[in-house]
Amino acid sequence: MIDAHIHIFPPYRSVKAVRWLKRYIPGLKVEETVSEAQILKLLRDSGISHFFNYVYPLKQEESRPLNQYNYHLSKRVKNAVCFGSLHPDNEDRRDILEEALLGYGLLGIKFHPFVQGFSILDPRLDEIYASLEKMGRPLVIHTGFNRFYKAAIRMDEVETILKRHPDLVMVIAHMLYPDVRQAFQLLNRYPNVYLDGTNLFSDYQEGIEGENIFEGVRDTVNGNPKYRISCLAFRDELEKYSGRILLGSDYPVAMNDPERSMHT
Ligand SMILES: [Zn+2]
Repeated sequence: MIDAHIHIFPPYRSVKAVRWLKRYIPGLKVEETVSEAQILKLLRDSGISHFFNYVYPLKQEESRPLNQYNYHLSKRVKNAVCFGSLHPDNEDRRDILEEALLGYGLLGIKFHPFVQGFSILDPRLDEIYASLEKMGRPLVIHTGFNRFYKAAIRMDEVETILKRHPDLVMVIAHMLYPDVRQAFQLLNRYPNVYLDGTNLFSDYQEGIEGENIFEGVRDTVNGNPKYRISCLAFRDELEKYSGRILLGSDYPVAMNDPERSMHT
């Protein structure tokens, strides 16, 4: 069993990321100080054989150190499949990409455009997409949960990249949630697209007195009205395309306790 979406970050980033998420989901059991060893133990205890680890820089100076961090992690932890990243502000982004993929042997590139603060159609990224396409390495993009992030990535923007780079292997993380149907349309149209359903099967629930910032659907759970994230309505599509669907927990910044996600 592979957890295709983990965030083991250096502590300075991990503390802030967990603190930030717990502001919105106070009931999460994870601690701000959760360590690499604790995360690895949890994965092991959950029966995970391998996991993908994603890091991404908030500012350009972080790009190289974070890629180096993930490289060291890949050497230290044999079942970690580590990805690199960069920032469009990096003037030497081509060199950073080569260092990450060829020098460090990182598998592909992950972007979190909302948190990193750029558009996926930023022209500075075009050469990065072209290089990834040429090298046959995957690009993982965070999408979805627009209300929470107060930002948006639309299906047509993703499709623009796919049209410009027809051989680019792209992983659409969080499946454009809540526009999941559109993500399946892209999957259907482009054989090189993969979907990552992380957090969509977390069974996240919020009382209806809340703001529903995670865009759950109104549902009744044990007689109580809730906003609930559930994508089990897409069971047929999930089965049909199961060879191109990834699942992960997003731990330690997961929307629910990992046992809960895995059970769902
Ligand atoms: Zn994530």
